[in-house]
Amino acid sequence: MTIARVPQVPASETPLRLLGARIIDGTGREPIERGEVLIEKGVFSYVGPQRDEEIAGATTVDLTGKTIMPGFFDVHVHVSMGLETGFQAMAAQFPEERNIGTAATLRDTLMAGVTTIRDLGGLTPGFRNLIARGALVGPRAHMAISVLSPTGGHADMHMPNGLSLIPQEMAEMRLVDTDDEVRVTVRELIRTGADVIKVCTTGGVSSPSDTPSDLGVPEHHVRIAVEEGQRRQGQPVTAHAQGSAGILEAIKGGVASVEHGYEIDDEGIELMLEKGTYLVPTLSSALRVPDPAKVPPFLYQKKVVWSNIAREHVSRAIKAGVKVALGTDAGVCPHGTNLTELGHMVSLGMSPMDAITAGTMNAATLLRVEDALGSVEEGKLADLVITDVDPLTEIERLADPTEIRVVVQGGRVVKDNDAWLPVPVVLPGLAG
Ligand SMILES: [Zn+2]
Repeated sequence: MTIARVPQVPASETPLRLLGARIIDGTGREPIERGEVLIEKGVFSYVGPQRDEEIAGATTVDLTGKTIMPGFFDVHVHVSMGLETGFQAMAAQFPEERNIGTAATLRDTLMAGVTTIRDLGGLTPGFRNLIARGALVGPRAHMAISVLSPTGGHADMHMPNGLSLIPQEMAEMRLVDTDDEVRVTVRELIRTGADVIKVCTTGGVSSPSDTPSDLGVPEHHVRIAVEEGQRRQGQPVTAHAQGSAGILEAIKGGVASVEHGYEIDDEGIELMLEKGTYLVPTLSSALRVPDPAKVPPFLYQKKVVWSNIAREHVSRAIKAGVKVALGTDAGVCPHGTNLTELGHMVSLGMSPMDAITAGTMNAATLLRVEDALGSVEEGKLADLVITDVDPLTEIERLADPTEIRVVVQGGRVVKDNDAWLPVPVVLPGLAG
């Protein structure tokens, strides 16, 4: 891991000592009851059972009865997209409406307990840079920038008359039909600062002109994208893949993760286990059937069919032990309630502890930042959340962002609604 892949946020200077809470560290290990976390210069300098001795200069707080967990990851978001708008309305907005709207979404995502995101299409690197220098409050951000599909495929946002629905401020979607187009596009995206390359190996639920069973970027183009990443800093490839045939093409082509994976079959499950491929099942979107009065009939019908498919197939993959990382597809489902996904995972058969690991250490490993983030362990950057909820018996309550009472990012307290900590909340403004 290079540190460049871990967008930094400015650290707090005062050592902060949290005593008495239960610590669920993100690795899947048994919780530490009556634990202690010491944060110095933005890093965990002690994590373990509570110690008796005084520590000079530290701000100390008793958190008995509360639970500390790592800051969560959402590895599949579209923070520059909003449910309430849709592409047609978005195209009518002014740039400042869109950009400030994106900034508000980033803040809401952090307040929901998500200290790191991976944006899989739309977000431009300027937001990552603003967050990293403390000028904007938001999760540390990894990003794909653009999405690759063939002409007429899932990422092709042209209407039948040829006009594009993508507004100017959003990263454009990229159409690739030949080997060279794949190569050049991946190289351009890496030049622009992509941390991950996203390809669509199938169509989708929300696109009007294709279906989840349609095939998109073929296996040999996935392989070219993987090779190009490996020639650089190893930028991984992830695939939007919903129908079983396209899921197989993605896995065989060498992706690091399958997004959605709604119709994953036995062959796919076996291959994922063998290759260590992650599944990001985006259940917050898959299981959400919209109000039929509010969406076009094609979308409602597709949603009903595909949410049932997802429920059946994803629970089979979970049972088989496929590695799962937490991603919601927020932007297609509501922003700012990202931890709803934990309850969905548990409803499909995952244990609460495994769901927490999917949202912390597994996600960090998928993003290749596990040396610096993803768990409450000594030496790691101090990203954590504190709650009154018992995540092991009532994890679905974490869907409500007000249950995430405290959020600490890089040792800096960015949310503390009930003033549990005797330190000021640092919320950088837009002009920092
Ligand atoms: Zn998505």
